[in-house]
Amino acid sequence: MALGEFALIQRYFNLQVQTETQGVIAGIGDDCALLQMPADKLLAVSMDTLVADVHFPADADAELIGERALRVNLSDLAAMGAEPLWFTLGLTLPAVDESWLESFSRGLFSAAKPSGINLVGGDTTRGPLSITVQVHGAVDKKSALQRGNACQGDTVFVTGSLGDGAAALAVIQRRLNVSEVDSRYFESKFYRPVPRLQEAQALQYLSKCAIDVSDGLLADLGHICLASGVGAELTLEHLPLSASLTNAVDKQQALDWALAGGDDYELCFTVSPAQLCAVQQLIAEKIIDATAIGRIVAGSGVDCSLNGSKYMIAQTGYNHFDRHD
Ligand code: ADP
Ligand code: MG
Repeated sequence: MALGEFALIQRYFNLQVQTETQGVIAGIGDDCALLQMPADKLLAVSMDTLVADVHFPADADAELIGERALRVNLSDLAAMGAEPLWFTLGLTLPAVDESWLESFSRGLFSAAKPSGINLVGGDTTRGPLSITVQVHGAVDKKSALQRGNACQGDTVFVTGSLGDGAAALAVIQRRLNVSEVDSRYFESKFYRPVPRLQEAQALQYLSKCAIDVSDGLLADLGHICLASGVGAELTLEHLPLSASLTNAVDKQQALDWALAGGDDYELCFTVSPAQLCAVQQLIAEKIIDATAIGRIVAGSGVDCSLNGSKYMIAQTGYNHFDRHD
């Protein structure tokens, strides 16, 4: 290797001035990081791996890969209602390419900055390009947004818009032609998904149950239903679709991507009747960007209707570079 492993870590990943105020007693450089949890909080831990040519094209801009790697993990912390604290990075590289590392590191740290999450350690190996990020967050036991907390009578909400992730992938893989402006919009949605941390924060004690939509709304709301022992009814005319999506494809394709496309990283959450007014108020005041799309019912599974008729999805699942695990 042109650059030794330690020099590489030092140059590209040991960039932050870590302070004890972030609970980092010892960060990168020792055998383990030493971390201080805030008092009375639970540690929320999640990990996602991105493999070249499975989760992103190997020749994609390294800065965008760095951004996406951290952002998709932050989305999991948001979906649990946890506040981001620290992350670790497992990096497998085919070779030491300093310009790639420089861009990757820039993307990674720019994604870290808004939430103040600190890189505290990791591992670096040689092999086919693969990036694993593990995030750590703090959550109050009473405000964790667990999948098993949905109840019959709750309203189902989703943040932002759905279906853009699948459309973005089609654009990136050159299966879909769109205008220059829409192409930039989709690229940004794919590589720079906004982790819904602010929404999750605003929903503390108003929602008890959330999931981030990474595998498509039907699959992910299905996880909530299974864990909670309930069913859900979706009113598809209420699904939030972006103008770029409805410009790019017909209504049926837009709905199918919104339901089964994946890679949207929006939050799907449920709200009890007692808290509904408070949540609608937050939406009206534009503190959170969310839409009511259905309700939780007795039974199991997710049923969809469009303008009063039962809707059967044309396509289930989605080929995401042969789909991730
Ligand atoms: P060890 O041999 O004890 O496993 P390493 O040589 O793997 O130690 O790592 C040395 C230090 O650098 C550790 O503090 C480790 O957490 C950190 N580190 C290694 N790779 C990375 C990386 N990709 N990003 C951030 N920190 C890393
Ligand atoms: Mg190691």
